[in-house]
Formats: sequence, C-alpha cells, structure tokens
Amino acid sequence: MRTFIQYAFYPIILGLVFLGCYLGLRWFSKAELIYVPGLCLLFTLPLMITGEFLLMYRKDWDEAKGEFWSDFFSSLVVLPTASKLAEFLIPVLFFYPVIWLVNHDWISLTKYEFSFGVELLLAILASEFFYYWTHRAFHKLKFLWRFHSIHHGAERVYWMNSGRFHFIEAFISGFFYFFPLVILGVSEDVLICVVSISGVTGFVEHINVDFKAGFLNYVFNTAQHHRWHHSIIEKESNRNYGKTLILWDLLFGTFYLPRNKEVEEVGVDENVPHNVVRQFVYPFRKMPKGE
Ligand SMILES: [Zn+2]
Repeated sequence: MRTFIQYAFYPIILGLVFLGCYLGLRWFSKAELIYVPGLCLLFTLPLMITGEFLLMYRKDWDEAKGEFWSDFFSSLVVLPTASKLAEFLIPVLFFYPVIWLVNHDWISLTKYEFSFGVELLLAILASEFFYYWTHRAFHKLKFLWRFHSIHHGAERVYWMNSGRFHFIEAFISGFFYFFPLVILGVSEDVLICVVSISGVTGFVEHINVDFKAGFLNYVFNTAQHHRWHHSIIEKESNRNYGKTLILWDLLFGTFYLPRNKEVEEVGVDENVPHNVVRQFVYPFRKMPKGE
C-alpha cells in the first residue's frame, strides 16, 4: 500500500493542478483568472502537508530550526510581491522593444495559431530555459551567490522553504521567468497556467515526502532531484537547476539522480541567518579579503 501511495502521490498532485487550470479557465471570468494559481495551491498544499506526516522522507527535516515563520513570510509575501513586480516591470522597462515585437508580430506565438496545449508547452519550455540559466548564474557568479545562498542556507528541505529567497533574487528570477512569456506574447490563459503549474511544482520539489515520481523524474524537476540541489557538497548541489522541468538539465549535462544513494547533509558551509530581515542585509555584508 505504501509503495502504491508513493507512486500515486506525484501524478495526483500534477493532475489536480491541470484540473484546477482547466476548470478555472472554463468557469472563471477574465477578471477572476488571477485567483487560479492561489486556488491550485490551496487544493494541493493540504496533500503535501499531510504527505509530510504520513509519508515522511527524513525525520530530522521535520524539526523546525527557528526558520518556519521567516520562510512562511518569504514564501507568501516576499516571493509573490517580487514576482508580481517583475511581471509588471518587464513591459515598462522594455517598453519600446516589447511594443515593437508585439506590433510586428515577429516572434509572437499567436500568429502561428497553435493549439492551447502546444502554446502552453512552448511557454513553459521558454520560461524554464531562462530560469535554468538564471539559476545556474546564481550558483556560479560569486556576487549572485551572495543572494542565492539564502535559499540554500536552510538546513532542511521541507514544504515552506520553497519560497525562501532574497527579494532581489526573487525579482531577477521572476523577471527572466516572465520575460520570454511577454516577448512571445502568450495569452493570459496560458500565463495563468504557467504560474499555477510552476507555483505548485515549486512547493513539490521541496516537500519532505518520500514519494517516487518514476519516469516523470525525466520530465519534471521533483523533490527527488531537488534534495541533491540542496546538498552541502558542491558537486552535488551544482545540479538540477530547473524549476518545473528537468529537461534543460538533461540537455546541458547537469541532471543528477543517482540510484541507491540518498542525500546526506543539506545546507551551505556558512552561517546564513534564518530571520527574513537579517537575510535581507546578508548579501551586502563585508567579505574577508580574497573571498
Ligand atoms: Zn540553487
């Protein structure tokens, strides 16, 4: 029975998100579509939290280390605010290029009259491509790592550290995630689905649930990959950069999912604060010479 639940867990969550998007697009008016991502989370989070109790992956990751409310604030206030700001500022900052591209219908997806499913797939592939390289840059460039180390500073991988990001990183990542969607001129319906799917998969990749995604591990970025991404060992953590998909990791050689081996210690080799206010100033600290 446990094995069955382990394998059913991830497809059920994905199924609920797709169902949520489908029903939202059918039932809601244009003005109400904005509630779809939040509702998808609302219906899937109880399953994830229940899974952390009934199908726990690591007992020591169930113990709070004084970071919960800070992570809660980051996930529900900092990250959504930064993402919304990024989404809003792209057309403002790139006003002329965006208007030009949209007016000339140059790379707009709409002129090809793709079906909704194809447009959604292309939109996810494009935003995931940009996210992949942004995330990789946050690991590889020292200045950017100062911000991203806050996310990796968590000493456990659990549902609420999915949104533990510095405001500036959340803004930059959000900016590059939405950028291709604006340039490609995806429809509002597609945009709502992309945000709904990435919102839920962002939580699922962090949950402390011992689920098995099976062959879906070669399509989606799941907790089975993302735990390795949080490993304290650098050669293990500089892998699996995707957000929703793992495809770009497979293509660019950063896919990592060893068999018969589990991640050991997670976190980083530095004292990252758990308090959201101290986290905000942490990247701007003076570094010792040579660092
Ligand atoms: Zn990372």
